[in-house]
Amino acid sequence: MTVLFTVLSLSVLATILAAIVVLADNRLNNYGICTIDINDGARSLQVNGGSSLLSSLASQKVFIPSACGGKATCGLCKVTLVESAGPVLPTEEPYISEEEREAGVRLSCQVKVKHDLKIRIPEELFNIKQYRTRVSEIKPLTHDIKQFRFELLEPQTIDFKAGQYVQVDSKPYDKVKESVSRAYSISSVPSDRNHIELIIRLVPGGICTTFLHQHLKEGDEITFAGPFGQFYLHEGGDELIFIAGGSGLAPIRSLVLDILEKNLDKKMKFFFGAVRKRDLYYVDFFRDLEKRYENFQYIPALSGATPEDEWDGEEGLITDVVARHVPDAVNRQAYLCGSPGMINACVQVLTKIGFGRDAIFFDEF
Ligand SMILES: Cc1cc2nc3c(=O)[nH]c(=O)nc-3n(C[C@H](O)[C@H](O)[C@H](O)COP(=O)(O)OP(=O)(O)OC[C@H]3O[C@@H](n4cnc5c(N)ncnc54)[C@H](O)[C@@H]3O)c2cc1C
Repeated sequence: MTVLFTVLSLSVLATILAAIVVLADNRLNNYGICTIDINDGARSLQVNGGSSLLSSLASQKVFIPSACGGKATCGLCKVTLVESAGPVLPTEEPYISEEEREAGVRLSCQVKVKHDLKIRIPEELFNIKQYRTRVSEIKPLTHDIKQFRFELLEPQTIDFKAGQYVQVDSKPYDKVKESVSRAYSISSVPSDRNHIELIIRLVPGGICTTFLHQHLKEGDEITFAGPFGQFYLHEGGDELIFIAGGSGLAPIRSLVLDILEKNLDKKMKFFFGAVRKRDLYYVDFFRDLEKRYENFQYIPALSGATPEDEWDGEEGLITDVVARHVPDAVNRQAYLCGSPGMINACVQVLTKIGFGRDAIFFDEF
């Protein structure tokens, strides 16, 4: 009898404790409706508290750049908090400088909306929209790179600067239950306002690229947000040195086409670094441009050519090739796009040649 009573009492106590924990949890995590004031009243948003600042803003169609989709691995989703929202988290440390910390800069993916917030963001982010699109063409370019052409359905036109990127949303597939958002540079020319083209390399095991390469079909609909980024043509520079590797060709193609189309008074040298011949693409396209435009020169280079490649073009690391062709930095700017390793090596070489940091622009993939 005593044992039964003890068991019953313990069960009742456990139930009461569990109820208290659930109630406390609900209460603690129920932040209610919070107001996010942007740029001193320029916009005021009402959001349900409890989500990240990045996703709360996106839910109200205010899109902050974020290449990693909220994992705190790209460091792009910075916003300034006018009033503190707590200390900078260890996940944010690598991306926030001392100056930024003092100014209240935070990664919006790491800030949880728990109360009303006042933030500052660059004005131009108000122009970023979400687009519904239909895939009009998927074309293989190499063994691991495909080109995607999207027709814009809603809105039907986009305004962007050559070199900028969009954030494409994937859809769940196979065992991947989540939808992610990743950055891809626009490779088409801004004057084609009803379409965009992207050049995407398949990353083994990558969530978004596996979706795009292996599950997305012509005729399917997907969404993206944009345009984002500062990798566009900047003032100055009579001669532009473009350097790309892999899918880094995408924004360079858009920049070159835009400059030629607008007939800007610029000389251009485009260095494209690949390992083997099978990694080259758009060769005929750029050779044709070279024939048609005096101010454009195309210099593809292979770092690991074998006799099988029958290659009679430039050989060696792209850094060495650039050093051979670019004598000095006078009236020159450099635009680089590719892996962090390639960019670092190229920045070092360009600096040795005499390029200041204000004459080198890059987007790292
Ligand atoms: C400004 C900008 C512009 C860009 N433009 C382009 C472009 O034009 N073309 C292009 O091809 N790319 C571009 N990128 C890169 C692109 O945004 C993506 O990072 C890339 O496509 C990989 O995305 P993913 O979802 O396929 O890979 P992810 O799923 O993000 O995986 C990336 C890597 O992490 C590994 N990984 C994933 N999950 C795990 C895990 N749990 N444990 C261990 N490893 C893991 C994967 O195997 C893979 O190697 C750009 C990036 C930036 C920042």
